[in-house]
Amino acid sequence: MKIAIIGAGASGLVAAIKCKEKFPEYEVFLFDRMDAVARKVKATGNGKCNIGNLDSSFERYLHSSFVSRILKDYDQETTLLSLGIPTKTMYGSGLYPVSESASNVVTLLEERARLLGVNIILNTRLSEYCLGDGKINLFFDKYQAKFDKVIFSVGGKSNPNLGSDGSLFEVFRRHSYLVADLTPGLCPIRVKEDVKALFGQRFHTMASLFIDGQFVHEEYGEVMFKKDGLSGIVIMNLSSMIAHKKTNDAKIYLAALNQKNEIVTAKNLFEISKKNHNPLLAYVGEELAAYICKTADISADHELSYEECQKLANIAAAIPFTYLDRYDFSFSQVTIGGIAIENLSADLSSKVEDGVYFIGEVIDVDGPCGGYNLRWAIGSALHLVNHF
Ligand SMILES: Cc1cc2nc3c(=O)[nH]c(=O)nc-3n(C[C@H](O)[C@H](O)[C@H](O)COP(=O)(O)OP(=O)(O)OC[C@H]3O[C@@H](n4cnc5c(N)ncnc54)[C@H](O)[C@@H]3O)c2cc1C
Repeated sequence: MKIAIIGAGASGLVAAIKCKEKFPEYEVFLFDRMDAVARKVKATGNGKCNIGNLDSSFERYLHSSFVSRILKDYDQETTLLSLGIPTKTMYGSGLYPVSESASNVVTLLEERARLLGVNIILNTRLSEYCLGDGKINLFFDKYQAKFDKVIFSVGGKSNPNLGSDGSLFEVFRRHSYLVADLTPGLCPIRVKEDVKALFGQRFHTMASLFIDGQFVHEEYGEVMFKKDGLSGIVIMNLSSMIAHKKTNDAKIYLAALNQKNEIVTAKNLFEISKKNHNPLLAYVGEELAAYICKTADISADHELSYEECQKLANIAAAIPFTYLDRYDFSFSQVTIGGIAIENLSADLSSKVEDGVYFIGEVIDVDGPCGGYNLRWAIGSALHLVNHF
């Protein structure tokens, strides 16, 4: 049996390893268009590789019931240990390698694959394929070859400089696959307000998302200001929620918080205003304090009245930002959309073509920041091989 795996990212590497472990007699070929495997994994978790998440619910994924069927048997810690990657939890239920090194994770996976006899073929891009005589003919930029089965682990369109440029989606469409609309997920957003003066500022906040005037979600975390918008993990999560709702009518409110991580009140501000003309400086940076004063139309150059403090507190509790659009794929951590789940059987084989399989981000599944997307990439690869 000759298997081709297209894409040596997290999902492709794990599929290759698990396939060789289960069927040592199979010939497994792992192709990638880049000059190294798993370029994206090296960039994950700010170089620390947030490789999974122990959240026991699957609700935070798009198509959560489909995902739960695929991931329910994926014991992350045991599987990763079996791949030579002992893990620990950090930041709540986030799973990280004990080494806290994404680069080590890639080295360990690549070495394991090579030791098992996986043929890793780099700098080789697949551009087309066709089925005939019970085989799958793959057309690469340099040559063509026949295989018994092909596993597509080519990722989405996010961060194309790390490998996944989405060029095969057109090919999949021609092969009659339904490809759900592709759009950047987990990315910074642009806002209508002029935030240039806040560029580079960071602060911990409670961010609330309203879509079409309705409250949708709130999340605590650090927000960073860009020249024309907002970034940070919280914002990236909200950007995916806005994309899933397929709307542009969204507002994000950021709250200034006091020492108890509660919303700053008029009473808080009034107490401090007796000692300092701009009481907001006790809670947020100078630039953000000035922005809140400007939005409230109050100049903090005198001892503020309680009414003025109330007005400032009202804005500080919910500093409004109006969603304009998302940054593009080069800034996004995950692709929303991809091969529609309706095209796939329970074992992740194609319902459209025999001998064709899909795993990882190429499928129309995405999760929030925090290890959910690597969990999907690795867990879907494991599920596929378990059902091979
Ligand atoms: C900056 C950044 C940080 C992230 N941090 C995290 C994190 O901490 N935790 C987390 O869970 N997720 C994180 N993610 C998301 C996560 O990395 C991805 O969801 C996951 O790696 C997807 O794995 P994959 O194997 O499905 O696809 P990919 O990793 O995208 O791999 C696809 C591979 O296919 C190859 N390929 C594509 N087309 C072809 C072709 N035609 N021919 C040959 N080869 C091809 C590409 O070169 C690539 O190597 C992050 C993403 C980014 C961009």
